Amino acid sequence: MPSAAATFPSRLPGVGTTIFTVMSRLAAECGAINLSQGFPDFSPDPALLGLVEKRLRGGANQYAPMAGVPALREAIAEKTAALQGTAYDPESEITVTAGGTQAIFTAITCAVRPGDEVLIFEPAYDCYAPAVELAGGTVVRATLRFPGYRPDWEEVRRLLSQRTRLVVLNTPHNPTGTTWSAADLDALAALLRGSGTLVLSDEVYEHMVFDGLRHESCARHHELAERSFVVGSFGKTFHATGWKIGAVLAPAPLMAEFRKVHQFVVFAVNRPIQEALAEYLRQPASYLQVAAFYQRRRDRFRAGLAATRLQALPCAGTYFQLASYAAVSDEPDVALAVRLTRELGVASIPVSVFSEAPRQDRVLRFCFAKEEATLDRACERLARL
Ligand code: GLN
Repeated sequence: MPSAAATFPSRLPGVGTTIFTVMSRLAAECGAINLSQGFPDFSPDPALLGLVEKRLRGGANQYAPMAGVPALREAIAEKTAALQGTAYDPESEITVTAGGTQAIFTAITCAVRPGDEVLIFEPAYDCYAPAVELAGGTVVRATLRFPGYRPDWEEVRRLLSQRTRLVVLNTPHNPTGTTWSAADLDALAALLRGSGTLVLSDEVYEHMVFDGLRHESCARHHELAERSFVVGSFGKTFHATGWKIGAVLAPAPLMAEFRKVHQFVVFAVNRPIQEALAEYLRQPASYLQVAAFYQRRRDRFRAGLAATRLQALPCAGTYFQLASYAAVSDEPDVALAVRLTRELGVASIPVSVFSEAPRQDRVLRFCFAKEEATLDRACERLARL
């Protein structure tokens, strides 16, 4: 007789293991340079490590308050006021989360009911759609088209309806490295005006915006801020993805609903790192220098790619670089990414997996959050293509 375990109906029948896990595992098996999953191959600032150690040894080892350590929420409020010109109340409008993914899952869970529609832009980061489906919502997909990956506002207007509960946006954008302009935020605000639709703005790469551009945050856009959950990530900003720590900003009524769910998902986030970050954030240089730091790596990697047959697309933000392989191969991107890992020893992420509709963009995503020597070695190998 089939066991209950074997016949149990999956709540996510279309979902397997994430591409990041798959490609990182393959990279490890092959001993390849891993430019697939996005994480740095260098350590956080020793000063930040020292602050964490001080807190670990200093007794900050029991539960933090559910919404986060007050000093960290205050530091986030100060940073947001300084950078975005918007005052969020640390008491009622800021919550510390166990990373961006938990923040996104929790925001979707508290906002979306069965029958609601949620608009996402594809290519889309992989955690949005499954969270919507688990909440009983329906995913509606707008398309960001190769090679510019700009939103098509006419298409968005057609896809919005009375049933649209939430629009999920992501700037700077993973996987394409594009950013939204102030005009893009204005266009979205105009389309949502007068509706009850909320916004979930995934801004985890907020401090990686290049060439003197400004990060256009929903927190800065007052009309959107009134209906938005804005998600940030300390793991990204401070080269510590393994710490799984981020934060959400939202107006008090939305945050009250967010916390109802948050308290039963994680209850509270680890305390010593929150306390360390609260102290570290007092020096704005800690985050203000991140853009220049990654811009150097982006430029190094692009210079290396220029000596290969891959064609780098523009990269305005994030630590991801897209490259077209149209001049090299007709293979589907998944097959090519696997072959490059096995044969050349460089792992990347095939971009088609971020869209439900079949795509022939012929682009791979490379993470350049790596030591310059790592990037140089990867480019030497890619030059053999
Ligand atoms: N955000 C990382 C990336 O895009 C992956 C995180 C994860 O593996 N879930 O590569």
